[in-house]
Amino acid sequence: MSSPDNERHTVLMLLTSDFVVTRYESLRRKAPELTIVTELAPGLNDDVTALFTFKLPTGIAARLPNLRLAASVGAGADGILSASDLPASVRVTRACDDDLGLSMAQYVVLQILRVFRGLPTLERQHASGDWARLPIPDATKCTVGIMGVGQTGSVVARAVASLGFRVVGWTRAARTETDLEIFSGGEALPEFLSQCDFLVCLLPLTDSTRGMLNKSIFSTVRKGCYFINAARGGIVVEDDLLETIDNEELSGAALDVFDQEPLPRSSPFWGHPKILVTPHSAAQPAVEAVVDQFIENLRRLSAGEPLMYELNRDLGY
Ligand code: NDP
Repeated sequence: MSSPDNERHTVLMLLTSDFVVTRYESLRRKAPELTIVTELAPGLNDDVTALFTFKLPTGIAARLPNLRLAASVGAGADGILSASDLPASVRVTRACDDDLGLSMAQYVVLQILRVFRGLPTLERQHASGDWARLPIPDATKCTVGIMGVGQTGSVVARAVASLGFRVVGWTRAARTETDLEIFSGGEALPEFLSQCDFLVCLLPLTDSTRGMLNKSIFSTVRKGCYFINAARGGIVVEDDLLETIDNEELSGAALDVFDQEPLPRSSPFWGHPKILVTPHSAAQPAVEAVVDQFIENLRRLSAGEPLMYELNRDLGY
């Protein structure tokens, strides 16, 4: 009988995009002893103990009777948890590395400073040879609200605060932070939103957050607030966001994530003068780190040890 540490796992990887293919190639190199399959096949499905994927369409998990782990190759596992037939007993993990928060902080700081210091105006002036000084705004009088102060949000909060901005956070569970003012839960949301000059969404996409940023929520945000979404497109009702910007209740938005990705060419977000679209590129755990983490989690699964970056299936993050 094999010891837990050398239990033979069969991993199913659904090669839905180049993003997954890169991780597939790395896993094959790093763990040649693993059996890795890329599609369902009669006679093989009973062997599959783990999924390593970004998206999991409904209809697959139910055909894998011995599935124990569904690991996301990305930082969010919403693409796996959306499968309605994923048994509650299957453990779900997401990918993370030490630099994820740092990359996200760079993205958010880039978007805030671009607007705060008037970069589009300066670029126009540069193009036309126009020497016109812009006023230097006072960051201490500008409040940045961060929805979701987790793995990435906490690093973003520190980076933004280090530039002099007032930073407030919104979380699900109450917490006692010394260096950050935290609002928690639905009751505190209107008060949190009413203070924000910049609103940064870094929430996970779950049953509680899907579509939560809608017309009614946007109407409680401070007028003229600038919105940054680097989390998941499904958290925002996109038509409502567009209407709120066109009504000038929000001053604009930087959007990295969308309901449908790649963002269709026909989307009104492209080219909108008050919106900056970026192609889901704010932050990404490094391929090697993601694959090492998965291999380690297979070992831990066999050994009965706690998994790295395991999600709470009840909360969805
Ligand atoms: P975490 O899971 O580490 O943190 C989630 C945070 O959101 C926590 O503070 C949590 O509160 C809060 N939260 C969750 N649900 C609710 C709720 N219902 N109400 C209020 N607060 C809630 O997430 P990450 O920081 O790792 O990721 C954040 C988002 O960014 C995810 O959507 C992820 O997929 C996305 N992402 C996007 C990338 C990109 O390139 N665009 C790259 C990396 C991540 P509490 O502290 O109370 O638990």
